[in-house]
Amino acid sequence: MFTSLKPLFCIFLFAVIAAFAPISVVGQQRSTLIVNADIIDGSGRPAFRGDIRIKGDRIVKIGKLKRTADDDVIDAGGFVIAPGFIDIHNHSESGLLKEGTAANQVSQGITTLFVGPDGGSPYPIDDYFLNLSGKVAVNVGAFIGHASVREAVMKNDYTRKATDDEIKRMAELVDLSMRQGAFGLSSGLEYDVGFSASTEEMVALARAAAKYRGIYMTHMRDEEEGMLDALRESIRIGREAKLPVQISHIKMGNRNVWGKSAEAIAIVEEARRSGFDVTADAYPYTAWASTITVLVPSRKHDDRSEVERGLSNVGGADKVLVTSCSAHRDYEGKTLEQIAASKNTTPVDVYIQIVKDGGAGVVCNSMNEADVKAFYEQPWVMVSSDGGIGSRHPRGTGTFTRVLGRFVRENNWFSLEEAVRKMSSMPAARLRLKDRGSIKKGMKADLVLFDKNKVIDRATFAEPQTFSEGIRSVFVNGVRVWSDGKITGATPGSILRRH
Ligand SMILES: [Zn+2]
Repeated sequence: MFTSLKPLFCIFLFAVIAAFAPISVVGQQRSTLIVNADIIDGSGRPAFRGDIRIKGDRIVKIGKLKRTADDDVIDAGGFVIAPGFIDIHNHSESGLLKEGTAANQVSQGITTLFVGPDGGSPYPIDDYFLNLSGKVAVNVGAFIGHASVREAVMKNDYTRKATDDEIKRMAELVDLSMRQGAFGLSSGLEYDVGFSASTEEMVALARAAAKYRGIYMTHMRDEEEGMLDALRESIRIGREAKLPVQISHIKMGNRNVWGKSAEAIAIVEEARRSGFDVTADAYPYTAWASTITVLVPSRKHDDRSEVERGLSNVGGADKVLVTSCSAHRDYEGKTLEQIAASKNTTPVDVYIQIVKDGGAGVVCNSMNEADVKAFYEQPWVMVSSDGGIGSRHPRGTGTFTRVLGRFVRENNWFSLEEAVRKMSSMPAARLRLKDRGSIKKGMKADLVLFDKNKVIDRATFAEPQTFSEGIRSVFVNGVRVWSDGKITGATPGSILRRH
């Protein structure tokens, strides 16, 4: 019996040795050598020609490298290789659970994204991370949302100031979330749950994030007539709570404030000159996407004159496109003006009806490109999408490629190197990611290979899911997740925790 098993045992032993051969027999892991690349390292310095060697999940060497027997060679063909793009403001919370391969994210070069902006986040963060671990193509970090903790404590009774006791309980939840790895506190003070929060409440909660060196990232109370005051309030919150501030999707939201970007920039510059750490991000579109109710800041949604004013502030009902409306699916894809015409009624009536029936998601084309440009030209403004998997706004699929193709190549607003910096080392520094956001020895191998002459967004308001062109390959932690127009199916993304 024993002797007859011997050959089997030998085969088993051989199999075990063979399985470990790449490490134990050869003594070395195989490496990937990317040759012939135009390297833009993320620092902002000019592109240079060179090769990059990746071993495991890290960049181990950069320069003119000699091929070794352990190298699998990828010829970059003279295309640009840059650090993978980092999106500080991303709404893929639920999308990642359904579609971990994140095709519309990696297709534009995103390798790391942060969920939980605008005050709405997964909660508890630990449970969320547990569900993602090992199943995502991109690296994922999270913010703890002010509205999420406010609702956890105040339930539906949030249209009022919080009591001291409630603020204390919210602060405990922020504290817990920071210990679970959140990168800071996010807020959405223009939205219903956050709207009634006082500045003092925000300072108290931001302090809980500051204790763990988190940041305060805010969708401000007002992006229109009250934008400048809201900006001052955000900086005040950061100063009093002693933590850096990130202004989300900085914009002049409607016609009444067009051209006032210069004033907003002056407020930020003055704070920065005084030593306060405030930065911002922006998406590259003149249309915003939000809930329909933000059109009427007074919250008097059935007051005809308020609604009328709200619509005229954005340039009219033809500027408001309904993208999602669960009570009236037939409204989706139409403007308030078109809906009114088809019903033989007025846009004001349509608005009042929609809000009464549960609201809608809208895209509103009310910004001015000169303001978008003015913000983007600031060295403290980074690129963010405010989109995500399944986004009904083209920014979900086209943000990073749009900046590269339109703002850099077509409009020449700033250099390609500066654009890459705004997408990589700048958000990495903001989030204090030590090993991502630049091409340097020892950094994680998050890389994007693209054709700078062809890269462009193709997502539109009519077809927001259309993939971009020109992104050749995307690597996350040394593993290819996007290759020639397709996902590879690999899910090498890491969960990032702030420590
Ligand atoms: Zn927002």
